[in-house]
Amino acid sequence: MSEKILIVEDEEKLSRYLELELNHEGYTVNKAFDGNTGLSMATEGEFDLILLDIMLPGINGLEVLRRLQAKKQTPVILLTARDAVMDKVSGLDAGAVDYITKPFAIEELLARIRVALKLHAPASSSNNENSLKNASSAYDSEDTYTWGELRLNEKSRQVYYGHDPITLSNREFIMLETFLKNKDIVLSRETLLESVCGYDYFGETNVIDVYVRYLRTKIDDKYGVKMIETVRGVGYVIRSDNN
Ligand code: CA
Repeated sequence: MSEKILIVEDEEKLSRYLELELNHEGYTVNKAFDGNTGLSMATEGEFDLILLDIMLPGINGLEVLRRLQAKKQTPVILLTARDAVMDKVSGLDAGAVDYITKPFAIEELLARIRVALKLHAPASSSNNENSLKNASSAYDSEDTYTWGELRLNEKSRQVYYGHDPITLSNREFIMLETFLKNKDIVLSRETLLESVCGYDYFGETNVIDVYVRYLRTKIDDKYGVKMIETVRGVGYVIRSDNN
């Protein structure tokens, strides 16, 4: 059965173009041209993925994302305007799995769609070898990185603190993974930016401070630990001797 994608985009030419490309790749596509319609279609329909423009008539894409996330966990890739760094950060924080900046190459979008669908395939499709492992497997596999009570499983992309699952955005996960793989190494903002956003990302490095703050809110503050240390003037580090 082909995977279903909802496109919420008010630029009709772009929307039509995306529909044709996605149909060509074998996806089933539905379209909405404003925020309210997009939200109700996303809420009532069953989609495997949503491509969501931020600047929309009616309610904007970020608000659509927030309201949708309160109801269901359909993976969302945001379509953002160039340089709207705060939009990207807010979008990822609101639960988007990825974003792509307009104008984009269709091949890049298709690649990101494939990744998002693979990483966020419903756990019920257990005959799929890429589906998530069950929670207990996060504890004793060689793909697991730990810090104190924290466990991160690289393959299942699950993070636990003790027995609590921690929900991270895609970029938060990559950042935490980078820290845990490089314990005791102070990572500069530039290094982290390259790891989290890709080498071709031309944004400000203060995006990194924002993600560190999110990770601290979700882990350090919540569990009363001091996992991510700031090294003034250099960057950040997770140290192994704090275990
Ligand atoms: Ca738009």
